[in-house]
Parts: sequence; C-alpha cells; structure tokens
Amino acid sequence: MTPRESISVFDIFKIGVGPSSSHTLGPWKAALLFIDWLKQNDYLHRVTRMEILLYGSLAKTGKGHGTDIAVQLGLCGEYPETFDVELISSRISDIKTRNKLLLAGIQEIDFSPEKDILFLKNESLSFHPNGLTFRALLPHGEAYEQTYFSVGGGFVVKENNDGGNPKAAISLQFPIDSADDLLHWCRKTGLSIAEVVMENENCWRDEEETGKGVMRIWQTMRDCMYRGCNKGGELPGGLHVARRAFALNKKLLKGRTYADYNSWIAAIRDGGKDFAYILDWVSCFALGVNEENASFGRVVTAPTNGAAGVIPAVLQYYIVFLDGNTEEKIINFLLTASEIGCIFKKGATLSAAMGGCQAEIGVSSAMAAAGLTECLGGTQRQALMAAEITMEHHLGLTCDPVAGLVQIPCIERNTMGAVKAITASQLALQSNPDLAKVSLDTVVKTMWDTALDMNTKYKETADGGLAVHIPVNLPEC
Ligand code: SF4
Repeated sequence: MTPRESISVFDIFKIGVGPSSSHTLGPWKAALLFIDWLKQNDYLHRVTRMEILLYGSLAKTGKGHGTDIAVQLGLCGEYPETFDVELISSRISDIKTRNKLLLAGIQEIDFSPEKDILFLKNESLSFHPNGLTFRALLPHGEAYEQTYFSVGGGFVVKENNDGGNPKAAISLQFPIDSADDLLHWCRKTGLSIAEVVMENENCWRDEEETGKGVMRIWQTMRDCMYRGCNKGGELPGGLHVARRAFALNKKLLKGRTYADYNSWIAAIRDGGKDFAYILDWVSCFALGVNEENASFGRVVTAPTNGAAGVIPAVLQYYIVFLDGNTEEKIINFLLTASEIGCIFKKGATLSAAMGGCQAEIGVSSAMAAAGLTECLGGTQRQALMAAEITMEHHLGLTCDPVAGLVQIPCIERNTMGAVKAITASQLALQSNPDLAKVSLDTVVKTMWDTALDMNTKYKETADGGLAVHIPVNLPEC
C-alpha cells in the first residue's frame, strides 16, 4: 500500500514573500535545495557560474511573478521566512550591477541575471508545468544539474524524488486523504475537525508548540493586512495599479489613522455592524493582504500567495464582527481550514498551473468556509458542506493574470473568495447535510477533472482570458 502523504498545518500555511507561492516561494525553496545538494556533494566551493532554466508556466509568467528574483535570493542562501523584504530590490540590483552572486552566502561567482536565467517559454517538462533546472558550472567544463518542480502552494519536489520532506515519513494518528476519511475519524473519536487535526499535529510536536506556531501564522497574516490597509501608492510591475485598501480603509474610518493593529481593530469594531460596512471591511482586509503580496511583502501562503487574502479576511471578519477574538478560536479556525487545504492537495491540486484559479482562490475559499463554519458551532458535516458549496461555485475558474503580474484579477478575486466563503458558511449552518446531493469528495474529484480538461492557456500562462484582452506594454525588467 502506498504510504499516505503527511501534511502539517505548517506545510499549508507558510511564511514567505509575495507575490506567488508556486512562482516565487517554490523556486526560492528549490534554489535552497540545490545549494544544499551542492554542499552535500562537496561541489559548492568549485562552482564558477550558474544557469537557471525556467520551463512552462514559470517561463511564461515568471517575470511578473518574481521567479528570477526568488531564484537569485535562494542561491544567495537567503530564507524566504526571514529575509528582510525591504532589501530585495537593493540586493537584486547589486547582483545585476556587479554581475556577481554570493552563492550560499560564501562563494562569489560570475552571474548575469539577463544571460544566466533562461525563460524557456516554448518548453515544458512533462511532470508539471512549473519545472526549473539549476545548472552549476565548474572549471574544465564540468557541470552538475538538478531539476525541481514547484507544484503549488510553495511545495517543491525534486525530479524522481519526493524532495526529501522528512515530515512525509511520519505516520499520523488519524491518516486522512479525503473528506470521508476525516469524517470517519471525527465520528469514531467524537472530536471536532480542529481536534482531529491537532491530534495529528501532536505526532510532530507538542500541542503548545503547535498553538504558538499557528498564532505566529495569524500574527504574520494580520500584520500583513494592517500594513496593506495602511499603505497607499501604486503596486510595482508597471501596470500602475493603485493600492485600494488604503483609500477604502481611510474612507471607512472617516480619515482617522491608528498607529497600531489593536487600536485599528477597536476603531473598526466601533463602527457597528451594518451589512455594507462589514462587507466593505471584508473586502478591505482581503485587498490589503494581496496588495502587500503583489509588492513582494511578507505574507503567508493560504494555501497559496495569490489567494493569501481570503483566509485572513474571513478570520478577521470572525474576530472583529463575531465572537472569534480568542487564541483558541483562531487556532481552531486555522487548523480546520488547513485540513481542507490538505484534502484538496491530495485529491486535486493547489497549483494554478495545473488547475487554474479554482486551485487557488477556490481552495482558499473552501478552507475559510469550513474553518468559519466549525468555529460558529456548525457540525463537522456542516463544515465540510460549507467547503463543498464554496468549491462548487468556483469550479472552472481560470487563471489569466494580466501581464503575468499577481494583480489583475488576483487581488479583487480574494475579496470574492472571502465573501463566497462567508455565504457558503451561512448556507451550510442553515442546512441539513443529510439533504446535500454533492459531497466534498465529489467536488474535489470534479475540480480535478475540470483541471485536466482546462485549456492550458488558462493555467497561469497569461496566454488567455483577461491577460490577452487587456493590452499592456511593460518595460522588460
Ligand atoms: S488568477 Fe488566481 S490563480 Fe492566477 S495568479 Fe491570480 S490569484 Fe493566482
């Protein structure tokens, strides 16, 4: 029997840098894996040059998604969780000006980003559209290369290998591949979804550590939201997209500004519970996160970067306008949401290059819907029903980012995902799951079938949809 893949809440929610989990975070991590491989094989100190070959979707939308930037920082040995995002542009321009790169932070090599990063737009590798090869050139014509695939949500696999994820080797107390498996364990143990997930997390670390880690995830999400809602100007990339969260935030707060997150939240809460007011805030939260994401800001994959705003927006809605303002509730929300993300990863995909935007915004919305439903007192079946309803109404959603940037339609799409999640949650809470005709597992399978049938031009290539109907003329960067 094939061992089940073990995925932790911290695999689904990862702290990193925008704008894309598959095109920025994944390639960054792949570069780090490659320098580890060079070290293990004792090649690092002999490397004189590097070439990076980007295939398929990474070649087509990699410029707009910052793939070139990510691989350079990864090769420098920088980590996406900790690298100071304010230093990205100076570090990249230093490499470009000097034509030198400090490999793994220790070995200076000749490196020209224009010549040594190859965007092979007409080539794709068969395993996955997001393939990339790192080639290290040594003296006397010696060369060593490794190929990796960024398979969505920041997950990376090495060609012919599982990428060495030690977590995958752990057997969980409650193995789960599908919604049916999850429900089975909930019924058998009487535990909620969040409790089943926590029991599984206990196989990796103790509960206190998991709780602290999940709260760190939430703090990173909310800091990102606060920054995004309080920063004006234009997004980078040449499309001249204005940051809208700032103006909306200002309008809703009647021009008042707040110096820290807590006073900002208190002011929002004081504004009341009018439907339009709440709706505006949900949009504002989602816009804020994704504008930060589009600006190479610090974000959390949820389950991807392009869809990073949906879950924080829905969780913030729960915290500010309902009764979600306790650590326990925040942790439960995120644990439940993460399990739904795992089920989609195992049964379908989190990669827009494989499945279009249904794999990003659709999955994030389903995750948020389940988390919210269980936290609002819904049963496990109602939580799964909420996830099912949400994905049912994202099926077939294409990925067609204008100019290959994670801005149009991506940023607004997070507001839609958040509102759909809230609607689906409410619908599930008012419904009897016994009467549902479509199960979550059925919709996961349907999403995957739809992904397989979807025309390639709608899979993060910028070759179709809005990307071809909005003419843009960006300078080559
Ligand atoms: S359209 Fe959707 S899937 Fe594509 S880059 Fe934007 S958010 Fe991601």
